[in-house]
Amino acid sequence: MADKNFDFDFVIVGSGFGGSVAALRLTDKGYKVAVVEMGRRWTPENLPRTNWTIHRWFWRPELALRGFFNMKFFRHVTILHGCAVGGGSITYAATLLRPPDHVWTNGSWAGLADWQSEMPQHFDTASRMLGVIENRILGPSDLLLKKAAESIGMGDTFKPTHVALFQASPGIAGGVTVPDPFFNGEGPDRTTCKGCGGCMMGCRHGAKNTLDLNYLYLAEKRGCRVIAETKVVDVKPLGAADGSDGYEVFTIQSTTLLPQKRKRITCRGIVFSGSSLGTTELLFSLKDKRSLPNLSDAVGKQVRTNSESLIGVRIPGYKDDLSKGVAIGSRVYIDEHTHIEAVRYPEGSDAMSFLSTILTRGRPGITRIANWVLNIIKFLIQHPIRTFRLLLPNRWARECVILLCMQALDAHIDMRWKRSWWSPFRKHLSSEGMQIPTYIPQANEFAEKFARMTGGTAMSMLPEILFNVPGTAHCLGGCLIADSPQNGVIDSRHRVFGYKNMYICDGSVVGANLGVNPSLTITALAERAMSLLPIAAENTWRDAPELSLSTLAKR
Ligand SMILES: Cc1cc2nc3c(=O)[nH]c(=O)nc-3n(C[C@H](O)[C@H](O)[C@H](O)COP(=O)(O)OP(=O)(O)OC[C@H]3O[C@@H](n4cnc5c(N)ncnc54)[C@H](O)[C@@H]3O)c2cc1C
Ligand code: SF4
Repeated sequence: MADKNFDFDFVIVGSGFGGSVAALRLTDKGYKVAVVEMGRRWTPENLPRTNWTIHRWFWRPELALRGFFNMKFFRHVTILHGCAVGGGSITYAATLLRPPDHVWTNGSWAGLADWQSEMPQHFDTASRMLGVIENRILGPSDLLLKKAAESIGMGDTFKPTHVALFQASPGIAGGVTVPDPFFNGEGPDRTTCKGCGGCMMGCRHGAKNTLDLNYLYLAEKRGCRVIAETKVVDVKPLGAADGSDGYEVFTIQSTTLLPQKRKRITCRGIVFSGSSLGTTELLFSLKDKRSLPNLSDAVGKQVRTNSESLIGVRIPGYKDDLSKGVAIGSRVYIDEHTHIEAVRYPEGSDAMSFLSTILTRGRPGITRIANWVLNIIKFLIQHPIRTFRLLLPNRWARECVILLCMQALDAHIDMRWKRSWWSPFRKHLSSEGMQIPTYIPQANEFAEKFARMTGGTAMSMLPEILFNVPGTAHCLGGCLIADSPQNGVIDSRHRVFGYKNMYICDGSVVGANLGVNPSLTITALAERAMSLLPIAAENTWRDAPELSLSTLAKR
């Protein structure tokens, strides 16, 4: 029964993987829950057809761009992330993989729980809720990836990815709408996947299992309130400084440029689920303005980029349409540590071509830039028409196999909250630490072989060449699970050190490099964290006491 002195029992900040799990599980436990999400709500009707419709693809509300995809540029890394009701699930490629067992014995969370025996059940629940299957639609670029892996003797590592898509049985055409196939009729109608390659533009066919069609859908149906286009800008304890008397949460509308008054919501508990970048930024600002001064000094520490590199091969005039299939259809290992996935954008979504250019080797900095300029001149002299076609945005998605390369080797940076010469009056997130390598030599060699095999040209990201800055869609960490506030921001039950009834459930808590796409792990961790909270009727709010696994098993 909700406490009448508060607007809600729990406010959840952000509706991505962590936030949606928290929304459903807390609602099911009898709590009155609100999810505050700064992004918009998307449906097949209002999603853009291609990424040329920039204002409905890119998120930069101060420029009237109110889409679901964002890029943030730091000195050490460019971070790609989602912003929508359903968080990153609207723009993500829906590849959901379990990390290898050894990730639980490394990093800040090692030894804090019996992860290896606890996590499998939560991975099972997460996979069932998200509808994970082995991809049944292999497109032309998947078949090329297989051939390229075979050419280096790694063909036996080729596998279709595991994806959160609703696909028909093999051999049956997609595009068929059926009543809810996942939740005994409680979920929405769904349509089978057409293999159009458009998953990262949001699925306009209702075939991608985005969070607004599973966790959030059920949470809302069971009474949870989702407040969209609203940004949380402040959180303060009510009464006792440790938050044991509850919190007041201040919000603003995120999609207007007009001056506005902040709104206030009160709650007994709070769950931060704004993603690695979003939660780290919010907690830094709350600590800095002394709304939550007791937050750990470890906020912003150990932000990981999954040791990633985005490269690719463009094959002008290729006979097949390489944009067909699902966004990430298959994967290979080219050596023990290096995992490569075949990625695509849908036909016509060529705007990303402005970030891609001819792959160039050489020492980072001026040498690589000079090599790149020489390369372009050489290409233009030797093959003027082909080079022109390579650099034109037109047909980019049809002619490209994007290769997402990840290594399970550890490397991290830290985030700081500070002013810069270009922002003297306002603090912002700023990266620091060792430079992250922009080049994974084995992956580049593979791309070059792939290009030779297909008659294409190996490509890489322009910021990697010009600024020696890698790009990642898998930013993790910043508010780690750890043994103490000296080493992290939350304990192994996701409770924020220094405050009561305050939790974090999102990618910011991940304490090691996963080496695979992280959303399934974020979902499974949130499932575990929420399973440790008592039901509403039994919560004394003294500190959400941990339930033993045997008590939970009896429920
Ligand atoms: C193009 C692309 C493709 C990807 N493909 C894959 C893939 O195939 N597989 C995979 O595992 N991962 C993929 N990812 C990564 C995946 O999207 C993220 O790892 C995942 O979404 C992180 O989950 P989260 O719960 O940490 O936060 P998110 O899902 O990012 O959700 C956080 C939400 O919080 C909101 N928010 C933040 N701050 C505030 C605030 N102050 N007030 C209100 N709301 C706030 C944000 O708007 C956002 O919607 C991809 C990412 C991108 C960009
Ligand atoms: S391939 Fe097309 S139809 Fe299938 S899930 Fe992705 S966007 Fe939807």
